[in-house]
Amino acid sequence: MIGLGRFGFHLAGALTALDQTVLAIDRNPDRVQRWADTLDRVVQADATEEGVLRQLGVADVQRAVVAIGASVEASVLTVLALVELGVPQIWARATSAKHAKILASVGAHHVIFPEAETGERVAHLIISRMLDFI
Ligand code: ATP
Repeated sequence: MIGLGRFGFHLAGALTALDQTVLAIDRNPDRVQRWADTLDRVVQADATEEGVLRQLGVADVQRAVVAIGASVEASVLTVLALVELGVPQIWARATSAKHAKILASVGAHHVIFPEAETGERVAHLIISRMLDFI
């Protein structure tokens, strides 16, 4: 899991609860310290650096999630580094349609829009509950 903002942290926690071993990486030392006791392995590093990811053993993981949203540059460079390392399944978070296009073109296998997807799911939930009362 790369990026421990709200989305990355909750996703890492949910995967851990599903018995997956999660290596979490964030460049912000406060974020790393904050989640160090909650997640299995939390490391402070700049994920745009391919060599750093290699040293952390990222070349051997089966799946990586890039949960960086705000910085398109950091998210794209991180996906590129993961592609160079040959990670078989790369999931990447996009914040706009253009961002999604760039992520796919550099080699992300799955592009996700957490905010948009959650909004859609909750809208359906609200409507289905409304219909329950009709
Ligand atoms: P969220 O919307 O999930 O709450 P956020 O608002 O904190 O996230 P983002 O900019 O999307 O903002 O960052 C998510 C996390 O990714 C942050 O904790 C940030 O420190 C981390 N991050 C950003 N760039 C890098 C990088 N190059 N290497 C590692 N971690 C990074």
